[in-house]
Amino acid sequence: MTLAYIALGSNLGMPIKNLRKSLEYLSQEMLIQNRSKIYETKPYGGVQQNNFLNAVVSVETNLTACKLLKTLQTIEKKMGRVRTFHWGARIIDLDILLLGEKVVQKENLQIPHKELLKRAFVLIPLSDVHPQKLFGKKITEWISLTGDSKNVWLAKESW
Ligand code: ADP
Ligand code: MG
Repeated sequence: MTLAYIALGSNLGMPIKNLRKSLEYLSQEMLIQNRSKIYETKPYGGVQQNNFLNAVVSVETNLTACKLLKTLQTIEKKMGRVRTFHWGARIIDLDILLLGEKVVQKENLQIPHKELLKRAFVLIPLSDVHPQKLFGKKITEWISLTGDSKNVWLAKESW
């Protein structure tokens, strides 16, 4: 079994329900170890859209990187079909942050996730469930390097 970290995000419909539902789907496919608190996040840029809720879960899985990505995309699709009218509207985003020590550099899949160290909304929840050190630095240092932590705040202690 490999320890993996998955980022969850939602800003459409009822984001808290979407996070819970996606966790339920995830738990049917892998062993959930820990879940972060839930954070509210201001979206980047000038585009008018709702704030996000973001969280990170750690899981144990035997799935390969490709199968894990497929599994996450299947859950996204299932939830999109159930909860939105517009095909492709994103009510849930599930990203692989880390999969053990695995490094993947494919066109459709990069592990570690290539935006991981740039995103406070991923690093802050990650720090709830991951040991302090990440790629030789404390996660808190990575978070301050993003300069973006003011746009992320605690929304819910528990799910
Ligand atoms: P984003 O996550 O950037 O908001 P999408 O969820 O639509 O956007 O993902 C776009 C593409 O990112 C997917 O089609 C997937 O193939 C690719 N991708 C690359 N690396 C990863 C990863 N580590 N986890 C999830 N998707 C990834
Ligand atoms: Mg994604």
